[in-house]
Amino acid sequence: MASATLSAAAVDEARTGPHEAALRTLRQATEHLGLSDVVRQAYAHCKREVAVSFPVRMDDGSSRIVTGYRVHHNTALGPAKGGIRFSQNVDIDEVRALSMWMTWKCALLGIPYGGAKGGLAINPRDFSKAELERVTRRYTRELADVFGPDKDIPAPDIGTDQQVMAWILDEYSVVAGHLAHGVVTGKPLELGGSLGRALATSRGVTEIALAAVREELGEPVGATAIVQGFGKVGEGVAQLLHEAGVRVVAVSDEFAALSNVDGLDIPALQLHVGEHGRLEGFAGATARERDSVLFDEADLLVPAAVEGVLHEGNAHLVRARIVVEGANGPTTPEGDRVLGERGIIVVPDILANAGGVVVSYFEWAQANQGYRWSEQVVEERLQQRMLSAWNRVKAFADNEDLDLRAAATVLAVSEVHRAQQLREELV
Ligand code: GLU
Repeated sequence: MASATLSAAAVDEARTGPHEAALRTLRQATEHLGLSDVVRQAYAHCKREVAVSFPVRMDDGSSRIVTGYRVHHNTALGPAKGGIRFSQNVDIDEVRALSMWMTWKCALLGIPYGGAKGGLAINPRDFSKAELERVTRRYTRELADVFGPDKDIPAPDIGTDQQVMAWILDEYSVVAGHLAHGVVTGKPLELGGSLGRALATSRGVTEIALAAVREELGEPVGATAIVQGFGKVGEGVAQLLHEAGVRVVAVSDEFAALSNVDGLDIPALQLHVGEHGRLEGFAGATARERDSVLFDEADLLVPAAVEGVLHEGNAHLVRARIVVEGANGPTTPEGDRVLGERGIIVVPDILANAGGVVVSYFEWAQANQGYRWSEQVVEERLQQRMLSAWNRVKAFADNEDLDLRAAATVLAVSEVHRAQQLREELV
């Protein structure tokens, strides 16, 4: 059945927002841990939510009103940490969910941060570079009291990059009256960024994908993979899987998809994308309808774009053996259930894509030390943290008879909860 003929129930479920998805997983975790309803409610709510709205002067002299958010979900373990997203789809529901996932991600990886997320409801493609700079500086001024190296540390996410982080660093430093290197991560190397940060999320996803293949299917060389999304995360995953000897048989971006059963020539594809900005028009592959490649046969499927792509209406069509979530929230709870019933393993976002925030932590530690680590040290420490988190989650899932998402969330919630109880006991 094609996804075009969704049942009414499937359509409703496909609309379940990411916050609802995050709340359902939280409920499962608190029930498993035997935590009280008041404790569950404490983690269901976000500690602080700021909504801002401000005018921006466009290049043609007109003004435009921009809306944005910054949400701190929980700060029991440390300062609030998480990216800033520039996307038309940003709303408070999405930012809440993303901030909660950051709390669990940091806790699971053992890094001393709470969870946050921010976003502006704009399509950055509609803005010139000068307009984006004005938007970013104004958003930073609006949130200057909220941000801070010991309070709230933004990073890139969908639609933002190291240049946006440089503007935030500069604007925040002007307001604070001193240069504050530690206020953002994912910044350019020249301004105290870390070696290895740009590829960190992709490297972490790849480490976890290879570990999952080894565990479930055997030697990864010659295994096959589909990568959905060819942006900050997906492109690097395709590259690193290819370098590890995995055959990347299909990729997609927001416009189109490509496949080649013999494996795509990823370095050639990267050159093509570098030149044209999109996958379309690459010669060494079959052009496909954008979402169709999600349902091709492969050992690995890596959704590395946006939330909610695998849901009740299409999870029965997935033919991959293992799904590794490069994006945040790409599988809805119903999609998860269908995949689980079909024996497809889902490695959850809070584990699989945590490499970005791990190297953000390394970057922040380097900024605070005023001492740069070599790329090799960054990569080794990243690999060690990712693999130890994988081993911990896998062993816990097996012992407790949980799927990997539930296991990862239970471990993360209990970590946060121990710190929370020491700071202010919830009864
Ligand atoms: N935006 C990334 C994420 O979702 C990185 C966050 C960070 O480095 O703070 O994990």
